[in-house]
Amino acid sequence: MNDPSVTCPFCAIVRRAAPATITHEDDLVLAFKDIAPTAPFHELVIPRRHIDSLSSAAAGDAALLGWMMLVGRLRAEAARGAENGFRVVMNHGRDGHQTVGHMHLHVLAGRPLGWPPG
Ligand code: 5GP
Ligand code: ZN
Repeated sequence: MNDPSVTCPFCAIVRRAAPATITHEDDLVLAFKDIAPTAPFHELVIPRRHIDSLSSAAAGDAALLGWMMLVGRLRAEAARGAENGFRVVMNHGRDGHQTVGHMHLHVLAGRPLGWPPG
């Protein structure tokens, strides 16, 4: 039971063992609606493979990380209300407000997004 993917809520979404509104899926990544959206458009892009956080990503994951960004952009472009801009952001660690230990990219749009974030 040391395999984190067994208890990981996002791995459960990948396995279809937990419900989610999946909006994009390919060999590398999934995108799905955030369960508690903080903007009119709020989706998460995750690698299919369990990676705890950006700290656990290796140089060999560079293409995966880049694809996560591009899928985030594609999802934002498909969203109503993102004509004026959007944000892709990855939280990391406790101070970075990472609450789910499966690396994920937030894609936010549909309202003016403040800066700096809280
Ligand atoms: P974090 O704070 O780790 O950067 O963001 C985690 C995000 O995942 C939060 O926005 C939270 O609402 C979302 N989330 C947590 N659990 C679930 C879940 O089971 N399903 C979905 N769709 N989103 C989740
Ligand atoms: Zn996972």
